Amino acid sequence: MDTSFYMELDKKALYSNINYLKNYRGKELLPIIKANAYGHDILQISKALYDFGIKTWATARFSEAISVIEYLKEYSIEDFRILVLESVEDIEIINKYKQICPSVNNIKDLKDFLANKIDSERLSLKIDFGYGRNGIKYEEVDEVKQIVKYNSLKFMGIYSHLFSSSYDDGLELIKKFTELVNSFGKANFQMIHLQNAAGIFNYDCEIVTHLRTGMLMYGLQEAGFYDMELKPVFTGLMGRVASVSYVDELKYIAYEGLDSLNTSTQKIAKIKLGYGDGFLKANLHTVCLINKKEYTVSQVTMDYSFIEVDDRVNVGDPVQIYHRPNEIKAKTGCSMLELLIAISPLRIKRIFKR
Ligand SMILES: *Cc1c(COP(=O)(O)O)cnc(C)c1O
Repeated sequence: MDTSFYMELDKKALYSNINYLKNYRGKELLPIIKANAYGHDILQISKALYDFGIKTWATARFSEAISVIEYLKEYSIEDFRILVLESVEDIEIINKYKQICPSVNNIKDLKDFLANKIDSERLSLKIDFGYGRNGIKYEEVDEVKQIVKYNSLKFMGIYSHLFSSSYDDGLELIKKFTELVNSFGKANFQMIHLQNAAGIFNYDCEIVTHLRTGMLMYGLQEAGFYDMELKPVFTGLMGRVASVSYVDELKYIAYEGLDSLNTSTQKIAKIKLGYGDGFLKANLHTVCLINKKEYTVSQVTMDYSFIEVDDRVNVGDPVQIYHRPNEIKAKTGCSMLELLIAISPLRIKRIFKR
């Protein structure tokens, strides 16, 4: 019997979240698939989005975009675009991969792209309103505008990051962004986007054409923004009990977890999931589900973890890890997002459930 663990994903939830988000603000969605699609598998998620008719996505890194392009080639899929958020270091990549759409983070970037004959309809202007990460500085905008007007440039998009220390700061930023887009000419951009998850819940922003989010699409919700209509795409780490042993026997093999065991515990189940699989030690003393009953994780090693069970549990019984995603932060100190991203893409397959 195969007792390996896999990550179970729900494609219906993914599609339902997308439809819900589109209706929520009446805007299109720009899915963020960075960080291995928040741990869900960037390759399978990009294919699933494509199959659903959504063909423009965003990554943080060029390396992520290239992996997706190479993967979709196997399906002869080429008609999609990937907006890359980080700054360009190697312009050759843009020439080599036509699906890659870079961000313009400063005037020099823009001049370099134009000098290298990169079509401006592949470029997105990133505006920095003082958040200081990257982007065209607000003070540089007039110079950019001159270049744009002189060359009659049309762009793939324009975007900024809606950060706000207060609700009113956010409103102020939306106002500035709106004025700026209008001064460039709204029609010169195919995509206009500003809000991530928090911004989508907090603000209605008329000028934007797209909502730029990962969290909400994957149905991952942080405390304070809970929407029942968004369904988790990740539905559990699934596997089976690999072996069971009795506490008496374990004393002889110097089982390290013995000291912390509940005194009534008689039996330990071993599962093929350890920190080498990305099941972090932070999961110690959390509970998992075996045969629909909760049991405590008492030891996490590189290749295996051990669960305190009872007589009802036997080899081959189904195990579910992370069955209570909303409580995991309080128990481990890590958000569900961090725990998902940690799960090894090499050892743990991501599988859409039927
Ligand atoms: C990661 C990222 C997002 C997505 O944020 P969520 O919290 O997943 O909605 C949006 N915009 C930028 C610039 C990002 O880097």
